[in-house]
Amino acid sequence: CGERFSNFDKVVLQVTGKDVPQYITSFEEAGLRPLLLQNIKNSGYVKPTPVQKASIAVILAKRDLIACAVTGSGKTAAYLVPVMNILLEQGVAGASHGMIQRPEVVIVAPTRELAIQIHREACKFSYNSVLKSVIIYGGTVTSHQRSNLQAGCNILVATAGRLKDFLDRGVFDFSGVRFFILDEADRMLDMGFGPDIEKIVNHPTMPPKGIRRVCMFSATFPDEVQALAATYMEDYIFVTTGIVGG
Ligand code: ADP
Ligand code: MG
Repeated sequence: CGERFSNFDKVVLQVTGKDVPQYITSFEEAGLRPLLLQNIKNSGYVKPTPVQKASIAVILAKRDLIACAVTGSGKTAAYLVPVMNILLEQGVAGASHGMIQRPEVVIVAPTRELAIQIHREACKFSYNSVLKSVIIYGGTVTSHQRSNLQAGCNILVATAGRLKDFLDRGVFDFSGVRFFILDEADRMLDMGFGPDIEKIVNHPTMPPKGIRRVCMFSATFPDEVQALAATYMEDYIFVTTGIVGG
């Protein structure tokens, strides 16, 4: 087991797990694709936050990850940046697949508001690139969400309930999924989405552990989240940031 601690002003970053990848200190140093780097800069990001420094390195190293950090610490870009870089580097399946969609990245969030924020950030970072982010959420008719999907979907941002409904109706084939991301995992479990998440990750087309990577983001790390990690992850890296007093 390796452990790395570092001080970022008053924020302490702790990273534990087997063979911990060295965190990045700047977006430039992470070796990101020029277009992605440009889009990050255009979004007003100058340097990565602590959770981003560690998470970007871990995901670029294709390791499973749990990251716990308070609201506002920049968890969205902590996974979008490395995942998009990997897709841009390795290439994506391409445009439309007709009725059945094969996303490479699946991001699940507890609420429609959060899903919208994630999708917006994904659109900013993927501007002018081949990557397409598509959002689906409950509480509205499905028709326009389905037609958005038909234009192709590399990154799917979804609320848990709606994604489970679409899966039941055979809208997705998950055989191309490289990253399965649970944002606000603690909140999703609190809201009772545990069974939906299990159905999604256990979908017959979902690649096995080690082939698809799982990344969980959470403000807290309760037993339920730890149990989820133990079930669906392999040799994961645990990243936590906290504010130290004084
Ligand atoms: P969290 O998911 O941890 O609550 P968000 O990803 O929603 O945090 O980020 C909070 C805010 O900070 C957003 O407005 C986001 O655009 C901004 N932000 C995130 N990372 C950076 C960064 N490296 N530089 C500048 N702003 C950032
Ligand atoms: Mg967030």
